[in-house]
Amino acid sequence: MTARVRLVLATANPHKVEEIRAILGEVVELLPRPGEVPDVVEDAPTLEGNARLKAVALCEATGEVAVADDTGLEVDALGGAPGVHSARFAGPEHDDTANLAKLLVDLEALGATEPADRRARFRTVALVRYPDGSETIAEGVVEGHITLEAWGDGGFGYDPVFVADDGPGETFAEMGADAKNAISHRARAFGALAELLGH
Ligand code: IMP
Repeated sequence: MTARVRLVLATANPHKVEEIRAILGEVVELLPRPGEVPDVVEDAPTLEGNARLKAVALCEATGEVAVADDTGLEVDALGGAPGVHSARFAGPEHDDTANLAKLLVDLEALGATEPADRRARFRTVALVRYPDGSETIAEGVVEGHITLEAWGDGGFGYDPVFVADDGPGETFAEMGADAKNAISHRARAFGALAELLGH
């Protein structure tokens, strides 16, 4: 029997670690991110570029195969914004509440009041980087729309204003974590990655 691939995870966010472990843990051995590895500046122009920056930094620091992900919310009426800038849409502070408020204000300013005018998707790129420089890359997308106001206390980021087409008509913040994780962009990206790594 061949040994399972061993991957070190770039994210230290405990919610994401659990979500990723539940999906990838079947096919790879996952190591936590070592505390001493510094954060990288995520200034690439694409999700794939940012995932690569994080994975390369971790791979070089540890000598291990590394996996990183990057996510963006793309709103059609805003020309795909905030996209790769989702974490700092309202400024460099990475303030989830301010980002969400700016999104609602910007859509209101455009007069986009119907769900059809507020189409959006979460997109995640998950990237594995090997010490020899080779990579395995997967993407996950969930389509939906932005609500007129925030609903629900769960989740994080833009969850209170995103309703997935494949969901029960509630925002991601109203759905439980398990229901969200069953259809989320990140789950789809890591599910696709598990397929690529496991077969
Ligand atoms: P990251 O690449 O996972 O750090 O995500 C970038 C930004 O996208 C975060 O700051 C969040 O605002 C947003 N985001 C990522 N994943 C989610 C999610 O599952 N729900 C809501 N917002 C998210």
